[in-house]
Amino acid sequence: MRKPKIVILGAGYGGLITATRLQKMMGANEADIVLINKNDYHYETTWLHEASAGTLHHDRVRYEIRDVIDRSKVEFVQDTAVEINKEEKKVILEKGEVSYDYLVIALGAEPETFGIKGLKEYAFGIVNVNSARQLREHIEYQFATYNMEEEKKDERLSIVVGGAGFTGIEFLGELANRIPELCHEYDVDFHKVRIICVEAAPMVLPGFDPELVNYATSYLERKGVEFMIGTAIKECTPDGIIVAKGEDEVKEIKAGTVVWAAGVRGNSIIEKSGFEAMRGRVKVQPDLRIPGQDDVFVIGDSSLIINEEINRPYPPTAQIAMQQGEVCARNLVALVREKSELEAFKPDIKGTVCSLGENDAIGVVYGKKLTGSKASFMKKMIDNRALFMVGGPSLVLKKGKFNIF
Ligand code: FAD
Ligand code: NAD
Repeated sequence: MRKPKIVILGAGYGGLITATRLQKMMGANEADIVLINKNDYHYETTWLHEASAGTLHHDRVRYEIRDVIDRSKVEFVQDTAVEINKEEKKVILEKGEVSYDYLVIALGAEPETFGIKGLKEYAFGIVNVNSARQLREHIEYQFATYNMEEEKKDERLSIVVGGAGFTGIEFLGELANRIPELCHEYDVDFHKVRIICVEAAPMVLPGFDPELVNYATSYLERKGVEFMIGTAIKECTPDGIIVAKGEDEVKEIKAGTVVWAAGVRGNSIIEKSGFEAMRGRVKVQPDLRIPGQDDVFVIGDSSLIINEEINRPYPPTAQIAMQQGEVCARNLVALVREKSELEAFKPDIKGTVCSLGENDAIGVVYGKKLTGSKASFMKKMIDNRALFMVGGPSLVLKKGKFNIF
């Protein structure tokens, strides 16, 4: 009898958990499992702010996919998915195509630019290893160039961060630690550097605990970060940004570096392939399949699930992507074994911790508020846990964070 073919697109948190759980649960003769990813490595998306600021080398945030999969059960293909042909049940790749019986779309997110002029051309993102390397290098280049110019351009040393969501704040925490090092390395006066965070909403980390938000903003301000709250980026130019506070107050901020960290949308392949989506995210059924598509699962940042308590979508997180990966794997096993009942996914939110650089953080874990070294310890434990979930103790020993006290 022909074995069913399961194709997993993306080896991020959701995709790797699905693949590693399937390899444990399924016999080699039960299904052909193919994992497709554009790189031969997995990166910890949740550590990219560190690599982007240059506080952690980019090789520390990635590991070889082949090191964590059982190659006797999962075939790894390094390629880029271009489009899904759901009628013919195949995926078009840059270097070929692959057919499937069951498909798992776990392709993560892309930056949401809301059509703001100039962002795609002039702003940097915190998106993957390539973008992290580029941003780190760019900031360093600005510092290196500053003293080379006869007429000093102080704006070279201004860094704008658009968005004070979790990505923006975590990046600011790293940057605040990195700037004194860069000043020392490139003989630059610290007082010439500006780090400006522009947030459209009336508060930093909108919706998060106000006491913890206060802690974070005071901490970052003490380290030199300036906050412009209730102010939206309207345009990005080669020289900086145009912002607006209300209707009338429009002004230009000159900056050598603009970082866009103001939100994400689902992978563009979703819309390109004709799946119904909201900002690129598919509202999936409780069993994580696309309504009307019994053979296609969507998990992670490209999926959308509603928090019934507040009737709003859950924010896309690694925590949810990994939990979905577990349920998706169990549901695939059920389908292959021709069981009729599939499991409904229910997120188990253990908490949220936002780092403020290497030694400080804020968070709520199991309902308890944490700040300072306790929160920072918890954040590193969460980072190590993600490694453990995919690759067990050996991956933690190889890539884990042990600078915990
Ligand atoms: P990802 O983990 O992003 O993986 C997607 C994979 O698909 C990647 O390997 C990518 O290379 C691959 N891919 C993409 N397109 C293609 C293609 N066309 N073809 C082939 N392969 C492709 N969440 C938390 O819960 N806790 C945190 O502390 C946290 N911190 C964060 C910090 C930062 C700086 C950022 C940016 C996000 C953070 N998040 C955090 C959110 C979290 O990273 C995402 O929710 C999570 O990565 C989503 O997992 P995923 O599996 O959907 O996608
Ligand atoms: P986000 O959507 O959470 O935050 C984006 C911020 O940008 C918002 O505060 C928004 O008001 C602001 N913004 C939007 N348009 C703007 C404009 N024109 N000008 C200025 N500000 C503007 O996005 P994110 O921070 O990238 O996070 C993405 C997802 O990843 C979220 O679900 C988040 O929870 C998750 N994440 C979690 C962690 C963590 O748990 N530690 C860390 C990073 C990201």
